Amino acid sequence: MASAASQEPSKKCWNCFVRLPLEVTQCYSCRKKVGDINEHGIARKPLDWLGYTLAIGSTSAFVYYIWWLFLHYNK
Ligand SMILES: [Zn+2]
Repeated sequence: MASAASQEPSKKCWNCFVRLPLEVTQCYSCRKKVGDINEHGIARKPLDWLGYTLAIGSTSAFVYYIWWLFLHYNK
């Protein structure tokens, strides 16, 4: 009888739940980035630092632009 501890080393994509080897960083099926396995056997969704930084950068550029317009229209 096989022991319950000998599970296949695989994780599931957090997006489409396809089975993936533990070492992959991108889902074969949906092309989403996948991180480490969590306690439920699901790959974590990794933090998208580039997207996060770009979002903050474009938002602050927009706010700065509005502020700049505001200053010039009040002179
Ligand atoms: Zn997927």
